[in-house]
Amino acid sequence: MIDFEWWLNNEDLGRMVDYVRSRSSKRKLQLFDCACCTRIRHLMTDPRSQAAVKVAELRADELVEEKEVLDAAHQAANAYLPIAAMADVVYGDPNWSALDALSADDAERLEEAYRSAIALHRTEPSPDRNSVFSAFHAAGAAYLTISPNADPVHDVSYWACAAVAHATNPDFEAAYASGGDAAESVAHRRLFGDIFGNPFQPVVLVRTWLTSTVVSLATGIYDDRAFDRLPILADALEDAGCDNQDLLKHCREPGEHVRGCWCVDLLLDKS
Ligand SMILES: [Zn+2]
Repeated sequence: MIDFEWWLNNEDLGRMVDYVRSRSSKRKLQLFDCACCTRIRHLMTDPRSQAAVKVAELRADELVEEKEVLDAAHQAANAYLPIAAMADVVYGDPNWSALDALSADDAERLEEAYRSAIALHRTEPSPDRNSVFSAFHAAGAAYLTISPNADPVHDVSYWACAAVAHATNPDFEAAYASGGDAAESVAHRRLFGDIFGNPFQPVVLVRTWLTSTVVSLATGIYDDRAFDRLPILADALEDAGCDNQDLLKHCREPGEHVRGCWCVDLLLDKS
């Protein structure tokens, strides 16, 4: 049965996503994808992948023009295709689920990238398969996050966990078979909780909490991504008469908070 207990204990991110998909906004799902990608920025070997994630985060809040999103998606595809082709060449067992999100134009460019990778592989010493697969999955996660053809949470978490598995497990076959790094998957479920809170017991906003100090702090935290200021926000909320322990505890508990954090969203009236 899907209820409060299930939500607290669930380890199946896919089912949690299914549960909130029709009950929440596309923005929050997009921000979750961005948060998964931001954790693996260091594994993205092409700056165009990193740039695409930044644009995707702005897109979630409708702060960029559609043209800029399309351009970032095009650049992310250009970063993804060569490393995807190389991953195929060094392993010979294509894993092209990200290609569902590619346009016909991108598919043509993939063929070009594939030919280049084969030529490069003939002349260069064999690259480390784990390095190639880590970069391949990280670039794929970034591409899926920005692609206008991909659904939010369309496997971004899986691709990010696979990138970490190949970056941290020296045994390539074990990393390949693992289905992604387990600790990273736990971190993703925590991020999911940070963004979606508890849909079974949502905190109801009391307007008197919204003093100028609270609003100013929450706005600054969001704009500056300064989540280390959340405990200060908790103090300001208490000064405003807030005694909701779910809200105060969330602001004070250690752990990763990201754009879309349910607490800051609640105070800024973002959904
Ligand atoms: Zn939070």
